[in-house]
Amino acid sequence: MENYIILPGQHKLPPLAYPYNALEPIIGSETVKIHHNKHHKGYVDGLNKAELQLVNARKNKDFSLIKYLENEIAFNGSGHILHSIYWTIMAPLNKKTQIKPLTYNQILTSFGSFESFKEQFIESASKVEASGWGILAWNPAWRRLVILQAEKHQNLTQWSSIPILVVDVWEHAYYLDYQNKRKEYINALWELINWDEVEKRLLLAMQGITPLKKVYI
Ligand code: MN
Repeated sequence: MENYIILPGQHKLPPLAYPYNALEPIIGSETVKIHHNKHHKGYVDGLNKAELQLVNARKNKDFSLIKYLENEIAFNGSGHILHSIYWTIMAPLNKKTQIKPLTYNQILTSFGSFESFKEQFIESASKVEASGWGILAWNPAWRRLVILQAEKHQNLTQWSSIPILVVDVWEHAYYLDYQNKRKEYINALWELINWDEVEKRLLLAMQGITPLKKVYI
């Protein structure tokens, strides 16, 4: 059985399942290219670097930088995970998907109606303070879906919640295509949501994560 453990410093930028221009006209190829190849890669590199520094800190019994390293790992690690999910929950317009039964039913249970969910999600994502994310997550403790805001990548989380649908609302995600019109970008991105992938992630989240399955990235 293949082992999916990722050792410190071994994180890799996951390739996209589509070419950089595949999300046009909703997200331009220049945005996707810079976002994936520069921004996301920067988080992977930052995470690897901080983890390896932490390995050295343990070896040398020198934890003088621990506070800095914890911050670097929370920021870059969360950034890497959220971006890895973000790329997969979008699909080109010619591969448009419909919402699937498990997701739909859990949305009804958690938010009352699909319309209410959509309204709350878009409002929540569009009102994230400064840079961050709109997140739909499965909360295993409550056994239902929750909508969260993340500031930067790591703030305002709810422990144990598993993100299944994420929207990047950092300016780098939309500024070239939408300038300062964040809500316009989120509304447009809604058309790209890959509901098959959301369903798959929700199913895995509800079953609990097993180390024998590759879940996030
Ligand atoms: Mn981003």
